[in-house]
Amino acid sequence: MSAPSFTHDVLIIGQGLAGAVLSETLALQGKRVCVFDRPQAGRSSAVAAGMVNPIVLRRTIPSWRASEMLAIAGAFYRELEMRYDTTFWHPLTLAAIFPTAQEAGIWQLRTKDPEIAPFLERESTADVALESLPRPYGHGVVKRCGWLDVQGFLDQHRARWSKAGDLVETSVAPSDHIPVPGGVRIHERSAPVVVYCEGPFSAYPGLVPVRGEGLTVRVPGLDLQCAVHRGVFLLPIGDQTYRVGATFAWDDVWSGPTTEARHYLTDRLERLLERPFEVVDHWAGVRPTSRDRRPIIGRIGAYEAVFNGLGSRGVLLAPWSAQHLTDHLFKAAPLDAEVDPVRFA
Ligand SMILES: Cc1cc2nc3c(=O)[nH]c(=O)nc-3n(C[C@H](O)[C@H](O)[C@H](O)COP(=O)(O)OP(=O)(O)OC[C@H]3O[C@@H](n4cnc5c(N)ncnc54)[C@H](O)[C@@H]3O)c2cc1C
Repeated sequence: MSAPSFTHDVLIIGQGLAGAVLSETLALQGKRVCVFDRPQAGRSSAVAAGMVNPIVLRRTIPSWRASEMLAIAGAFYRELEMRYDTTFWHPLTLAAIFPTAQEAGIWQLRTKDPEIAPFLERESTADVALESLPRPYGHGVVKRCGWLDVQGFLDQHRARWSKAGDLVETSVAPSDHIPVPGGVRIHERSAPVVVYCEGPFSAYPGLVPVRGEGLTVRVPGLDLQCAVHRGVFLLPIGDQTYRVGATFAWDDVWSGPTTEARHYLTDRLERLLERPFEVVDHWAGVRPTSRDRRPIIGRIGAYEAVFNGLGSRGVLLAPWSAQHLTDHLFKAAPLDAEVDPVRFA
């Protein structure tokens, strides 16, 4: 019997950060990939600030596998820039302004812990603009942060893949999946495996949608080079303009920008800046978070796999997760138990 022939090696549903990073990872390994996407209101990547911070600031501990994730993410985004011949990835430092003397003391202690010490410094950034912000208890510096221009990357990815005929702008319903011998066919494309990268629109067990809101603001006269955190993040994107965020809400997640969140963010910002600012934009989206805050990656059927649960750290987690899924699907590498979808099945 002859082997079944397919138009592609992998079909991907969803072109948010998950689908875009996975498609690039697979293409780099020589796989033929087709992506289906119909942008829907509330999608997460459309509003992601793109910040990468390897520290859980609330507790001053490293985020999950921070060193490994950072190394892989940095290498992936730099390689991506070369492929696209542009700049998406901006390494930067983060100044965490201490709200109390107690927090300053905790930071001081944590800088002596070998697990987190490589990421922390006490008050040393060459950013003179930071001196103009109120810092009664000082600040600490988180090294090895960065931000990805997520929307810039996704726009260019969409244009490039559409031009090659490998991104189809359409919605995929369950009835569009046609079983064929050894795989699946969707809208005239076929492959041995389809990967669901549907973000918060998926009903996969263990997924928890979380609304997030943020602002774009202009702060005349403030030219920060570093990101700042005090209750909220302030991320410089050039021309005295900043992204500010984000909020977390677990109810009414699809309700879009709310006045409650706008008040919360402007209140925090007033305390952080103590100077006038102008709100240029207010955005909202829904994060695809998992119950245990780990990605959900792996095969979920003979011809199906899932790549989801990137939560609030998609930029940091997506490159490692895409590599892990690729090795699992094509090199029979075992799934890491912490990300295996079976934990929620
Ligand atoms: C306010 C806010 C701020 C954030 N800030 C940051 C940050 O600073 N740093 C960070 O790392 N992360 C941040 N995040 C999180 C980040 O946005 C997510 O981790 C990441 O974007 C998730 O990507 P995704 O591809 O899984 O989902 P999405 O971006 O939602 O993409 C899913 C895509 O699939 C499409 N789709 C779904 N189902 C179908 C179907 N059946 N057919 C066709 N298309 C379909 C959707 O339309 C969408 O385009 C933030 C999130 C929010 C909401």
